[in-house]
Amino acid sequence: MATLLKGINAANKITEDLIEEVKVLNAKGIKPCLAILRIGENADDLAYERGIESRFKKIGLDIKKFVLDVDSKQEDVLKTIDIINGDSNLQGCLLFRPLPKGIDDNIIRNALKAEKDLDGITDISLSAIFTNSDVGFAPCTAEACIELLTHYNYELTGKNIVVVGRSLVIGKPVAMMLVNENATVTICHSKTKNMEELCKKADIVIAAVGKAKMIDKNYALKGQIFIDVGINVDEAGNLVGDIDFEDVEPLVEAISPVPRGVGSVTTSILARHLVKACKRNI
Ligand code: NAP
Repeated sequence: MATLLKGINAANKITEDLIEEVKVLNAKGIKPCLAILRIGENADDLAYERGIESRFKKIGLDIKKFVLDVDSKQEDVLKTIDIINGDSNLQGCLLFRPLPKGIDDNIIRNALKAEKDLDGITDISLSAIFTNSDVGFAPCTAEACIELLTHYNYELTGKNIVVVGRSLVIGKPVAMMLVNENATVTICHSKTKNMEELCKKADIVIAAVGKAKMIDKNYALKGQIFIDVGINVDEAGNLVGDIDFEDVEPLVEAISPVPRGVGSVTTSILARHLVKACKRNI
């Protein structure tokens, strides 16, 4: 039976550490506060927002919500980002994406100050992953994948890792972050040939495809570690990952479940980024 890489254990460890760090900040008169910028009432955004609220409450972090109408114009969003950028009591911001049609994602995401970009959406934050410099922040989900592996004491140096997916939110940043951790990384995407063979050669496979249960036992071998980033709803209405858990779990050494895997770590990483943003300002 494979080791189940549950996210809650990693999330709770981060929470414990942050509670102490927030006490120190509070003693210095600093009250960390996250700005959440949401456009419309998308059900997935609302579910994620509730997760953030619950995690932040446990840690003692504040949240200020900026909720715009789904029909808002680009200039309304830019004005709100201006307010967030200019408010020194808001040390970081999470902007829910994808944005509604008619709003230019490139313009909006780069309007946010990099030092408040807690989810690694600006070009400055993303380029800092490539240069391995401490500017901005990595995308929280990408960092959550690495956190999950390191929490369970899996060494990354020298490991062959396949990342399936090349989005700017997960695939590309997590691949570069793994290179920074001295792993040897192969990035697969929809045009990749022989993906099953590539995955079978890896020590670790990270699936960020967005296709329910696509990665089945044909991609897996004994002794491997599988990390599932996917969040999909199957035909029966169940939340499932990109990995076919029932198919792969009996074969591999360790696997992260969906739900309660990577997704459970993401909000704690967001909290850690907010605390780090406050510390950088001291
Ligand atoms: P995305 O932007 O749709 O990217 C999907 C990637 O998968 C693309 O690079 C695509 O390749 C590749 N792909 C699609 N079909 C493929 C195939 N048959 N074979 C190989 N590669 C294929 O998705 P994303 O934003 O990265 O998200 C990925 C998954 O993570 C989704 O299920 C999403 O819901 C989930 N997610 C989870 C969290 C969390 O906290 N756990 C957060 C965000 C997202 P091309 O580039 O060639 O099109």
